[in-house]
Amino acid sequence: MEWSQSAQMYERAKLSLPGGVSSGLRAAMRPHPLFFERGAGSRLWDVDGREYVDYVLGWGPLILGNSHPALVDAVTRQLAAGQSSGAGHSREFELAERVCAAIPGMDKVLWSNTGSEAAQIALRLVRAATGRVRFIKFHGHYHGWSDAMLLGYRPAADGSLDGLTSRGQHPRAPADAVMLPWNDLPAVAAALSGPDHDIAAIFTEPALCNSGVLPPAPGFLAGLRELCDAHGVVLVFDEVITGFRIAYGGGTERYGVSPDLAVLAKAIAGGLPLSAVAGRAAVMDLATQGVVHAGTYNGGPLALAAADATLTELARPGVYEAFEERAGQLTQGMRKALADHGVTGAVHHVGPVVQCTPGVPAGDSFATFMSADWDWYGALTVELLRRGIYVLPGGRWYLSTVHDEADVNRTVAAFGAAVAATV
Ligand code: PLP
Repeated sequence: MEWSQSAQMYERAKLSLPGGVSSGLRAAMRPHPLFFERGAGSRLWDVDGREYVDYVLGWGPLILGNSHPALVDAVTRQLAAGQSSGAGHSREFELAERVCAAIPGMDKVLWSNTGSEAAQIALRLVRAATGRVRFIKFHGHYHGWSDAMLLGYRPAADGSLDGLTSRGQHPRAPADAVMLPWNDLPAVAAALSGPDHDIAAIFTEPALCNSGVLPPAPGFLAGLRELCDAHGVVLVFDEVITGFRIAYGGGTERYGVSPDLAVLAKAIAGGLPLSAVAGRAAVMDLATQGVVHAGTYNGGPLALAAADATLTELARPGVYEAFEERAGQLTQGMRKALADHGVTGAVHHVGPVVQCTPGVPAGDSFATFMSADWDWYGALTVELLRRGIYVLPGGRWYLSTVHDEADVNRTVAAFGAAVAATV
């Protein structure tokens, strides 16, 4: 067996962990979830001693790659100086100031640990701010696994995009969400048109990274901003993937539209658990006026030390230009490999997030993403593993600051060979 140690560990893990994984989505990895021993830079080594160029990057957070020396140094120093005081320390406000300086229009920050938590506190804030209950959420967008938010990301058991996504989810959750197709401004305008819409907020990923890495249609985000202003609705950008990634100031900077609240996680701390809601003071200060935001680990010094190091690295000149160049190289190489082998498929990128959508001529909508040939792509990911390339299911590839030209050249060659092995 090619991954015999991983396979054995997976069997053993299934005895003590439901499904053998710690996050349900990881069970989708083919041929089965692998087990890893260590990572360094753009590389990972599994328990079978195989080396991979890592495009999973911890499902997104490792924007500096694996164990970047600056991050290791910052976290090690902090660990030696105390891992958690549950009290004030200077990095709490220093990093909050840096987040507000990075993202246009943001005044204050609430720290938490995961994107799901941050989305949940954002929902509580918008309800308190408006006195309304419902919110607009778009098909294919993911805002974490909470009962309120886990809707319309993928079709529900009944095939609809409006129903419950998980067994055990609160059965009335769908009643609070107005589920709409993304990039459809008239649909949003219609939902807000009546006097009794009861809509507190619009939640959107500024670029739809979770379902095909789709940029917003020209004018869509600005249109949302105008509609929110006209109807007293709070605009929330979920920048968990896009934040500090598709620009230093995330989708807000890249697309030139400021939300009222921005949800951040993943890249902000380079791989330690940290999330945030940043926002305008009028909404954020509700956390001092009866909106409960709590958490033992909130603003923890280790995660904030990691964020300090990460943002310092990301603020260096040329980082985002290099992302575009590297992602462009990878995109072109993958497109050519597909064409050379007569395989239909779309490849494109937004910043350092590359998307391969197999079996369709253009990966330009949630519908095309859903209709793509994911069975073939699953087989391709196994062929890629055989050639030392580790990727996510679903076609999304993350690049870090340490993926260099040689990594990409090696990857493009391996991709071509993997495609050849599957046709
Ligand atoms: N929002 C977006 C856009 C995400 O992609 C994710 C996770 O992938 C989340 C929220 C939830 O974040 P977490 O997994 O840290 O709870």
